Amino acid sequence: MTELKTYTGGCHCGKVRYEVKVDLSNPVVMCNCSRCSKLGAMLAFAPVDQLTLKEGGDVLTDYQFNKKVIHHVFCSVCGIESFARGVGPNGQEMCAINVRCLDDVDIDALKTMKVDGKSL
Ligand SMILES: [Zn+2]
Repeated sequence: MTELKTYTGGCHCGKVRYEVKVDLSNPVVMCNCSRCSKLGAMLAFAPVDQLTLKEGGDVLTDYQFNKKVIHHVFCSVCGIESFARGVGPNGQEMCAINVRCLDDVDIDALKTMKVDGKSL
């Protein structure tokens, strides 16, 4: 059963704001790669067309590392990466939402799944 819902979210200072349709009944990903482990990001994935950037296109800074397939866009004012963009294994353009940056989501109620991003 899918529970695709529309959430709003954004960075800490409020310059970056977006709306995204995502299914949080699926486990959210806790990744152990060098970046995620420092950020403590909890990620939910959705096709990129389910993400609508409402504000902040002008303050987003793109950061890439390793194989440079993921665009880690963060707010240049407050430094928070509230989402990322990249191409999934099947060639589809995806976004990774940092569910900690969504409004009114009970993080403790979410199922989580560890992903060994360090070994990828
Ligand atoms: Zn910000």
